[in-house]
Amino acid sequence: MSRKRAVVQKSLAVSWDRLAGMPKPLERLSKGELERKQCISRLMTYELKYLTCQFVNEEFEWLLPVIFSKSTDPLWPDPRASIEKRIEVEIYGKSVRTTLSMILHKIVACSLAYPKLFILSPNVRIERTERAYSGIHAYEFTQLDFEVKSATSKEIKSLVEKILRGLVSSLKKQMRKELIYLKRHDSLKVPEIPFRTYDREELQERYGRNWETQLMLETCDPIWVTNIPREFYDFEDFDQNKWDNYDLLMPKYGEVLSGARREYEYDKITRKMERDNIRKENYQTLLKLAKERRLKPSAGAGIGIERLVNWIAGAKHVGETQPFPKIPGLVYDL
Ligand code: AMP
Ligand code: MG
Repeated sequence: MSRKRAVVQKSLAVSWDRLAGMPKPLERLSKGELERKQCISRLMTYELKYLTCQFVNEEFEWLLPVIFSKSTDPLWPDPRASIEKRIEVEIYGKSVRTTLSMILHKIVACSLAYPKLFILSPNVRIERTERAYSGIHAYEFTQLDFEVKSATSKEIKSLVEKILRGLVSSLKKQMRKELIYLKRHDSLKVPEIPFRTYDREELQERYGRNWETQLMLETCDPIWVTNIPREFYDFEDFDQNKWDNYDLLMPKYGEVLSGARREYEYDKITRKMERDNIRKENYQTLLKLAKERRLKPSAGAGIGIERLVNWIAGAKHVGETQPFPKIPGLVYDL
């Protein structure tokens, strides 16, 4: 065997080795594995149908997503972000980025034209390779992103609770066969509402830096965590030293949603950008609108569609919910 061929074979062996326990591409699934995949896919179809119907019934406008923009989410400083590479390409002589999230588009769209909106938004985040083992990270995924003008955090949290309770209750009736096949029917409980809310500071005092993992293992119900320091667009009360934002954590699975009331005042946004070393030139439109007082108060959230199905299905890895798994560090042909 030529040296070159031996090297190629070795590297292939190493990469298939690393696959142990990871979701495989469609063409490598056995009959049984394919059946499981199809079952999870039926749950995904049900989830998408249920969620989009709920938002349309609540008179949300359904917007289509964008992929390329000059401005996108900085994902900084979010202690949970772990981006290995940011994708920038040049089109028509301009530098654009793939969507990390549609938060900026959402804030602008909500302020200017669509007071209640939602988007199924594809996000490309080149997560660090070690995140393959978290079971909840993919490098491409979809958020159901929504935003409501003048809403409070309480209103958004109540809406999410109502929709999620309805979703689980409906799934248990309509997707009974699938949930039984996945051995999830009995353990998936219709959650009581309102969900309990914890302040991140208290959790940190009780559990230390690893509060999320500890909390997730201890709880049997969905839980809100508020007051999490992160990106400039989440509302921060400088006097109280508190953030008006929230994450929803699912037992044993972790975060499936992040949201917040938003900043809209120019002085606060620029002060936070300066504090966090965010390059203002990447956010010109947002800043111009804020300066002209055309940004309006709003609140909203983004639900990780694959993570929600991951939890519903009791799957081992979020890649199991994707027809073409996008697992950090593993690049398949399709
Ligand atoms: P974020 O704004 O970063 O909190 O993302 C919003 C939601 O998208 C999260 O609450 C997750 O449900 C989901 N999400 C974020 N990153 C990933 C990822 N790498 N893979 C799958 N889902 C993700
Ligand atoms: Mg988050």
